[in-house]
Amino acid sequence: ATPTAVMVATGKGATQGVLIKGGNALEKAHKVKTVVFDKTGTLTVGKPTVVSAVLFSNYSMEEFCTAATAAEANSEHPIAKSIVEHAKRFLNKFGSTEHVVEAKDFEVHTGAGVSGRVGDKMVLVGNKRLMREYNVQVGPEVEKFVSENEKLARTCVLVSIDGKVAGSFAVTDPVKPEAACVISYLHSMGISSIMVTGDNWATAAAIAGEVGIDEVFAETDPMGKADRIKELQMKGLTVTMVGDGINDSPALAAADVGMAIGAGTDVAIEAADIVLMKSNLEDVVTAIDLSRKTMSRIW
Ligand code: ADP
Ligand code: MG
Repeated sequence: ATPTAVMVATGKGATQGVLIKGGNALEKAHKVKTVVFDKTGTLTVGKPTVVSAVLFSNYSMEEFCTAATAAEANSEHPIAKSIVEHAKRFLNKFGSTEHVVEAKDFEVHTGAGVSGRVGDKMVLVGNKRLMREYNVQVGPEVEKFVSENEKLARTCVLVSIDGKVAGSFAVTDPVKPEAACVISYLHSMGISSIMVTGDNWATAAAIAGEVGIDEVFAETDPMGKADRIKELQMKGLTVTMVGDGINDSPALAAADVGMAIGAGTDVAIEAADIVLMKSNLEDVVTAIDLSRKTMSRIW
């Protein structure tokens, strides 16, 4: 494309809230055959809420909520925020927040959860992988609760106190209203869509089904997300990655065209070639369309 065409497209993009950082991405985007989407905060709203809390031990709901709140108090993860909000609401209504403290020896386990000491107790809050890491048994009753909820596209967060699963929060994060429409429109343009996520396979598959995603890669860490992109590129495909999180930044950098959700983290925005300022997935199409027009010299 001529420098003038790139300038025109960049200007048109800017007025529509599609920030294009350079001519390179604009020249590649028209060739895109595959769009890889992150799940949480990209296909979904990214504001999870707790829809149920159950106990699997003799700890009271008050003890369970107190432990979870303390452990998640310093976590930035949206799931952590939903748990703290839910647990505090419960404690304010039916218990007391007077014992809520910040956990000591707080540790973040990326893509798995958090750990810390609350009083004299060791508390873990996270997925089954985190429980496995610490040799915490996940019994059949817990497994049943988890798999039933995952089929409903919910994510289950397990809370263990001193090596035993005390209970679980089921969390739901609704898909963005435009997601299904955008994915079917991409289809009509001859572009397939793939999901990569750190969340578990069952929840990921349920969300993918809701929006019409062709292929899913779940339980994937940040480097794994980038590896999926590279595998697609090795098949000769031009790949777009759309993501919002720190955990998406290696994949955003690896993609031919990295697109960051405007409401996402600074690290993702930094790593991307294009920023969707309105955080609306329709602008994935806007960006590809701008590229097609630029390359076919419509301007
Ligand atoms: P995604 O790729 O969908 O954005 P992440 O890699 O951030 O997901 O997290 C993957 C999974 O790890 C979550 O679905 C959740 O089960 C678990 N997890 C991560 N951080 C936390 C936390 N602070 N509290 C509870 N669970 C967590
Ligand atoms: Mg995300």
